[in-house]
Amino acid sequence: MSRIYNFSAGPATLPLAVLEQVQQELTDWHGSGMSVMEMSHRGKEFISIAEKAEADLREVMEIPEHYKVLFLQGGASSQFAMVPLNLMGSIRKADYFDTGAWSAKAIKEAARYGHINIVASSKEQSYTTIPDRGLWELDENAAYVHFTPNETIGGLEFDTEPDTGDVPLVADMSSSILSRPIDVSRYGIIYAGAQKNIGPAGLTIAIIREDLIGKAGPHTPAMMDYGIHAKAESMYNTPPTFAWYVAGLVFDWLLKNGGLSEMAKINERKATALYDCIDSSGGFYSNPVDKAYRSLMNVPFVMADSSLDAQFLAGATEAGLVQLKGHRSVGGMRASIYNAMPEEGVNALISFMQDFQNKNG
Ligand SMILES: *Cc1c(COP(=O)(O)O)cnc(C)c1O
Repeated sequence: MSRIYNFSAGPATLPLAVLEQVQQELTDWHGSGMSVMEMSHRGKEFISIAEKAEADLREVMEIPEHYKVLFLQGGASSQFAMVPLNLMGSIRKADYFDTGAWSAKAIKEAARYGHINIVASSKEQSYTTIPDRGLWELDENAAYVHFTPNETIGGLEFDTEPDTGDVPLVADMSSSILSRPIDVSRYGIIYAGAQKNIGPAGLTIAIIREDLIGKAGPHTPAMMDYGIHAKAESMYNTPPTFAWYVAGLVFDWLLKNGGLSEMAKINERKATALYDCIDSSGGFYSNPVDKAYRSLMNVPFVMADSSLDAQFLAGATEAGLVQLKGHRSVGGMRASIYNAMPEEGVNALISFMQDFQNKNG
């Protein structure tokens, strides 16, 4: 078997130990004679898988009792609509931070349902920084405040969550969930597509403070109503069973590997090493993001001579370092270094980058 180092932004690399367990259990899960893929979502086997996954996620993130965890479909992009459909209520206005491509998409979708106030925007700085707190214009009567803690494309990350007082804080945590400990009680809703730092594509996790559930407007489709999913324990219809199972194995892997405080230390080391390599290259490589807000998970970089990009990417692939091409909207390169990317993978990338510079610099 040969594994490469996969720096994809998502779907992304998964822990090898998890993939091996999936392989081992694939045709006969725990003596049931069935694959998890073949099980009824209402049977006792799958219910036990589902309950353990939720319990482990609650433990690893220290999710308080008064939060509901939903296992949904539709990706983070569906949450862009579900959040306003469920929270706008009669207020019909919400606050949004505009810090990158994903914020902008969330804003565009939410604007279909009410008035969007932009709290702060770094669009004019090409989304390379977080606007100073002194410039934020929070509306204390907003239905909620939405932000994107980590912008996956721009590689821009908030250092801490905004303080929004009594207004519920909603976070699109698709690319930063589980990367470090957070205080869940500071949030009204946390949502994330699974395919970056949780598990396979097809699963979307929403962690919702209970008092925010059951407030969807009358024309909300049932599949978009948190109240309906919460009441049915995420089994209103067939959930993404296999993705739920694999996510559960990832939560278990996190618990066995020191939990989120340990992940944070490793992630910090990986990101620091990679940014150091970029910053010490004398301009051969560069990252445009304000140092205070550089992402731990997604590291975009460009070369001073972009005509070398194709050669860089081909050489990297040959060295077993793949999916490093930057997002089509920004070009250059991007290394996504989620929890499942081992330190050896980042070190191999750094060696390759230094070698490439020595040969071409
Ligand atoms: C990937 C990503 C999305 C889109 O997720 P889907 O699950 O494909 O809808 C949204 N927001 C952020 C921050 C992302 O990284």
